[in-house]
Amino acid sequence: MNRVSQILSSPIEYLKGVGPRRAELLKKELNIFTFNDLLEHFPYRHVDKTKVNLIQDITSNSEFVQVAGVLVSLEVVGQKRGRRVVGQIKDKSGFLELAWFQGLQWVQKTLKTGSSYLVYGKVTFFKGNSQIVHPEIELLTEAVQEGKNYLEPIYSTTEKLKANGLGGRQIGKLTQMLLQALRENDLPENLPEKIIMQHQFINRFKAFQYIHFPPSADAYDQAVKRLKFEELFIAQLRMGLLKSRRHRYSKGVLFDKVGSLFNTFYEKYLPFELTDAQKRVIKEIRTDTGKGHQMNRLLQGDVGSGKTIVAVMIMLLAIDNNFQCCLMAPTEILARQHFDTLSKLLGKLPVSIQLLTGSTKAAARKKILSELSDGSLHILTGTHAVIEESVQFKNLGLVIIDEQHRFGVEQRAKLWEKAEPYPHILVMTATPIPRTLAMTAYGDLDYSVIDELPPGRQPVITVHRYETHRNNVMNFIRAEIDKGRQAYIIFPLIEESSKLDYENLMKGYENVKAYFPEPKYWISMVHGRQSSKEKETNMQRFVSGDTQIMVSTTVIEVGVDVPNASIMVIESAEKFGLSQLHQLRGRVGRGSEKSYCILLTGQKLGVDARERVQIMTTTSNGFIIAEKDLELRGPGDIEGTRQSGMLNFKLASIIEDRSLLSEVKTMSEILLESDPDLVSAENLQLKQFLQRQKGDPVWSIIS
Ligand code: ADP
Ligand code: MG
Repeated sequence: MNRVSQILSSPIEYLKGVGPRRAELLKKELNIFTFNDLLEHFPYRHVDKTKVNLIQDITSNSEFVQVAGVLVSLEVVGQKRGRRVVGQIKDKSGFLELAWFQGLQWVQKTLKTGSSYLVYGKVTFFKGNSQIVHPEIELLTEAVQEGKNYLEPIYSTTEKLKANGLGGRQIGKLTQMLLQALRENDLPENLPEKIIMQHQFINRFKAFQYIHFPPSADAYDQAVKRLKFEELFIAQLRMGLLKSRRHRYSKGVLFDKVGSLFNTFYEKYLPFELTDAQKRVIKEIRTDTGKGHQMNRLLQGDVGSGKTIVAVMIMLLAIDNNFQCCLMAPTEILARQHFDTLSKLLGKLPVSIQLLTGSTKAAARKKILSELSDGSLHILTGTHAVIEESVQFKNLGLVIIDEQHRFGVEQRAKLWEKAEPYPHILVMTATPIPRTLAMTAYGDLDYSVIDELPPGRQPVITVHRYETHRNNVMNFIRAEIDKGRQAYIIFPLIEESSKLDYENLMKGYENVKAYFPEPKYWISMVHGRQSSKEKETNMQRFVSGDTQIMVSTTVIEVGVDVPNASIMVIESAEKFGLSQLHQLRGRVGRGSEKSYCILLTGQKLGVDARERVQIMTTTSNGFIIAEKDLELRGPGDIEGTRQSGMLNFKLASIIEDRSLLSEVKTMSEILLESDPDLVSAENLQLKQFLQRQKGDPVWSIIS
């Protein structure tokens, strides 16, 4: 290969001024292993070295300041953990305090009183005095001599690195040296000419120079514009290549006939008319599974949009084609409920269904395993228990995973290995992942969405009440129960193991009991500390209507379906995230009765909590809620997406750059459609670039 990959993939210790010790630190602290990693450690801001603040102008509103002056004192003060170095810098207008809590030796060794320094950092106020903790500091003469009158990059670093002479400024020096050593063909163009022209991008080599050391603010913007685009485009292209490869080369089981089970069910046993969205999704899946390649599809549909029936019909399709199916759910309650639903819906058809969970008895388990391997069992529903190694199918053709965000990528992979060729995978989720996020994190999956609720659903009336009005709320619940309805009362138990949360739940339960005394009222309680049997019994009593009230933690959150329950009270609602609130609310409004969701909170609400409550009371659209959730929490917090490195871009933000993201996605789709293997001359640079990114799954595909 050419020189490109060689120099940029050099280990960081080979860079002049780094050496083995600092290299170790760079790896550990900043994940910088190679020259290229350093090059992609972009500055988070630039300082204009021509702008020096006067100390007297610093106010409590000042954020980052730069001052030039003489270091007039430097001493170690404090004991043990309070031990620190404190210095004073003086310019013609006044004094400013500097403080170091770490790297004390380095500070004492390097800085000299009487010398002039240029100091940069964030101002904080300590006992009324302004100070900069861990400032960037360099000799003034040095700064002036080097003629640093440009925008100087500031890099993120860590205390440990700073203590070893690798502060933000020193990192900048290393980067500058690296850039000087690079030639234009070390950073060759990777985007097709057409795209560059269309967007008037500066070339790649320049972009890297400018993003670190811009000659002007405009040059910096140009560099960011180009590199951000590239970052998103390459990511989308990789995903697109994976998907396109699966479509063209993966072997998948073939569901090519619609048989008697599917038809009989459709004509005789379908309990309701399917919505148009359900019909469309079933058709999409039928088309996809009838092509001979493996389907790997994400099915999104808001709570209550009716994903189960879609799953049922697709399973019948699989069985019609002589394959077995597996339906996996994240909790035992949900798995059992699926089992019950399937048993009821398919009771009159020659289809065998079993449930396998952690609490399945040994004898029953043995029977299930033998029926699975001789092929007489058609559908296995269950929890994680179904992915254990001992569970072997005769001819698994379809795996459906409900509420996917609770399953890790690795667990999914385990399922794939249960058959060759791979079974079709359908991942169903009601955690409405915003589209931008879905297309980024799951860009290699096909995507279907049920964007319509079954007819006749009334929106759940959602209100906010302060805890001080609990009396009114309880009276309201009583009136509804007396009309024959049922109610959920949910307590926050974020950490199932937290003692405090648990005590709150018990207190809450006693409190509810006081309002609703036996024998007129009966209460179920479900929480994570119970055995699954206890949970089950309590749940069943509520489902069958023996109890009118379900006091529970969020274990009830996913999937549970009790149409007669029409009230959802969420205690300490301020402690829940938006998606969770939405999921909980989805437990009601499933029948024909008017339903209510009451968010109880304390008097004091933070800004974010207030906004969450406000959103919940004004919209019931899961996609809007998901977008808001993303805005409020950021992508890193969304369950199950954290491991997906796809969301951690260096420059782009999937929130701020979402319109660019969808533009880029379209562009990459168009490109792959016309040239799926990147063989044309105009895409050659792109192909070579992807090939250089070793360790990437795409690497082996397109070489
Ligand atoms: P989710 O998408 O949240 O898993 P479910 O599949 O549990 O939703 O469906 C929610 C409720 O709506 C169930 O009681 C189901 O029987 C009912 N349902 C589903 N589809 C329809 C439809 N097309 N018409 C009427 N009711 C439906
Ligand atoms: Mg469901």
